[in-house]
Amino acid sequence: MVSGTSESLKAELPVEQGHLFLNGDVKTGLVLVDVVNGFCTVGAGNLAPKQPDKQISEMVEESVRLARAFCENKWPVFAFLDSHHPDIPEHPYPPHCIIGTDEARLVPALEWLENEPNATLRRKDCIDGFVGCIEKDGSNVFVDWVKNNQINTILVTGICTDLCVLDFVSSTLSARNRRLLAPLEDVIVYSRGCATFDLPAHVAKAIKGGIAHPQELMHHVGLYMAQGRGAKIVSEVSFSAQPLP
Ligand SMILES: [Zn+2]
Repeated sequence: MVSGTSESLKAELPVEQGHLFLNGDVKTGLVLVDVVNGFCTVGAGNLAPKQPDKQISEMVEESVRLARAFCENKWPVFAFLDSHHPDIPEHPYPPHCIIGTDEARLVPALEWLENEPNATLRRKDCIDGFVGCIEKDGSNVFVDWVKNNQINTILVTGICTDLCVLDFVSSTLSARNRRLLAPLEDVIVYSRGCATFDLPAHVAKAIKGGIAHPQELMHHVGLYMAQGRGAKIVSEVSFSAQPLP
């Protein structure tokens, strides 16, 4: 897409982005969506970036920064890991993040989270992590995490802004509105902590059945949709008290 067109579309779909200051006053939980090799590590699989990707690298860096700060403060962290059984494909996607492979593991910079008592890791075999948390008995691992930790706000990072992040945020907001998630009040999406994949129109055209997915624009659309569902969007997250006006 011509960047001028992209800029004018962004202007037509404005996203209000604030600055979040975290000091522990509000019980906040961090939710990491699919920061796994299969989506984030160059060359790791069918849905991994083919070459170094600035938006994805920044998302990983920011997710790691927040995860470290949350764990140092003993604040709750919840991480989704897209993970599929080899015999159960996820249409319309090619095989990816097969259980037992590196694709379905956290990126190297987050592997330490596997042994972190403060973190809850959840493998999910569908796009929407909220749905992926439903157990056979009808209970929901994410709902239990919110309630057990008495979380008032969740801060969401991960990939993809317009797919797994958006679906999780949308379902969580619906569940919150149905009072299924008390005491959860706010769902905050961190824009620089999110990323999506890039499939420019000219590349998609050359692929049978390929549908264009321009990264910058779809990332923006994901944020715009999340905002429309009632999420707050922030472009900065700091760990300090808010400065006095
Ligand atoms: Zn998947």
